[in-house]
Formats: sequence, C-alpha cells, structure tokens
Amino acid sequence: MTKLASHQACRNREIIGCNWCVEGADWYCNSCRLTRTIPNLGSTRNIMLWRRMEEAKRRLLYDLGRLRLPLASRTGEQLAFDILSDEVSPILTGHLSGLITLNLAEADDVERESRRVAFREPYRTLLGHFRHEIGHFYWDLLVDGTTFQAPFKLIFGDQAQDYQAAINTYYSRADRSYDRSGFISEYATSHPWEDWAETFAHFLHIVSTLDSLAGLPLSLDERARQTLTDPYLESDFEALLALWMPLARSINELNRSLGMSDAYPFDISPAVKGKLHLVHMAISAFRDQQSLAA
Ligand SMILES: [Zn+2]
Ligand SMILES: [Zn+2]
Repeated sequence: MTKLASHQACRNREIIGCNWCVEGADWYCNSCRLTRTIPNLGSTRNIMLWRRMEEAKRRLLYDLGRLRLPLASRTGEQLAFDILSDEVSPILTGHLSGLITLNLAEADDVERESRRVAFREPYRTLLGHFRHEIGHFYWDLLVDGTTFQAPFKLIFGDQAQDYQAAINTYYSRADRSYDRSGFISEYATSHPWEDWAETFAHFLHIVSTLDSLAGLPLSLDERARQTLTDPYLESDFEALLALWMPLARSINELNRSLGMSDAYPFDISPAVKGKLHLVHMAISAFRDQQSLAA
C-alpha cells in the first residue's frame, strides 16, 4: 500500500536532512520548494553548507507561518531563494523583488566569522541573514503604499535617498563610530531600508526566542505566561519587551558563564524600541486586514 502523500518526507531528506513533510502531491516541502536555485553540489563541502542554509531557512519560514505573513508579494510574486556558491564569480547576499540570494560561503563558520571580524560586526549568523533579507521583502508589503509610510519616514528616515550612493558611502566610511542610541546596528545607519531590515530581523529574534522560552520550566507571572502562549501573535508590544529585556540579559550572562561571547550583543535604546514598535504595528495591522478580508 502506498503512503498518503501528505505523510511523505521531503525529497531533500536524504541529501540534506530536511525534516519537513510534503503537502499534497508535492515532492518538496514548503521550505525546500521555495529554493529556486541550489548551489553546485559537486563537493561534499557544498552539500554540507547547503544543509546548514536550509536549516536556517526552515526556521525563518516557521517564523513567517507563526506571524501569518504571506509568502507572496501584493502583485503575486512568490518568495524565492537562490543559494549560490561563489567558486566561479562573487555572490552578493541580497533581496530583489521577492528573490533572496544567499552566498553559500556564509554557511562556512570560518568564512562567516572572518567576515564578521573584518566588518566589525558583533553578530553574524545564517539565520540573521535570512531574517534581515526577508525584512526587505516585507517592507514592500507592510509599509510601502500603506498608512505606515508616513510614520516610517518619521522614525526611520526618508527612503527616497539614493540607495546605492548611501551604501557606497557606508562602505567607504573610515570612521566606524555611530549613534548607538538611534540604531540597533552600525549597518542600520546605512539607509532607512537597511535600518528597517535590521529592525525587522530583531523583531523575529525576539518573538522566536521568547517562543523557545515558553518551553522552559520557569516560574512566571500570569501576564508573562499569557504572552508566551504565542509571542508571535502578542498584541501588546510592551508585554513582549518586558519579557525580552531581562531574558536577553540572562542569555548573555549564561553565555559568559560558559566562556562564550554574548548571544545578543545589542542594546535596545528608546529610539530602537520605537522602531521595533513600528515593525510590530505594521505586522499586526496587516494581519488584522487579512482576517477582516477573509
Ligand atoms: Zn524540505
Ligand atoms: Zn539589507
């Protein structure tokens, strides 16, 4: 007897250990089928690196599902991923009209860590790349042409300024100091779109980590337990932050006790808090509209 299609493992289980199942008659799971281009699999190293990429991508797609965000743009373009190896030509990580390109080399711990040090970043992870790039995708959907456009301009700045010129200026800057009270990271200072993408990634870091906290045997008050029922859908932004701030400090302390660097090497200043709040409002407003329309 053949098994029901919906119970079958993703076709990528054997090669990269994908642990998702397929829906319907598809061969690939809801995450793997969004990968439009896979890297050159001529070496076992590339296969191993691709495996790590897809692992991080599944986490991202899990976040998006929990936030009930769609995987298509307003004009119906499906979100897609190109995961490419830079053996032949350089690959730039980025987003363009729903297509997210990732450089396979970022999955190599030594490579990624040396880039992190070279760019003087406190944090560089695969999941962080995915959560940043998806922020660009959702700017088009959640902010552009919506009631959030004016507040965005006020809080993040005017996105109409020349993007490429701003990025070039950013990379040619000799002085790497920046206003830490206004931005979550140095890269966020490069252009309002990058500030949004960085902030969006942090919003995902927060709700996802709080969601993991929900499974720990901790004694929490009633309000905290209520938030942890589903941090992705918590409507009270202050309640999210009230849980996140002490948790972030504790994770860092735990890491230091283990002789490791801070897991969350960031400060959420009042200005950054305002930006995160806008991300939260834009996601919630979109979800409310969708459920009204349904
Ligand atoms: Zn899969
Ligand atoms: Zn970006």
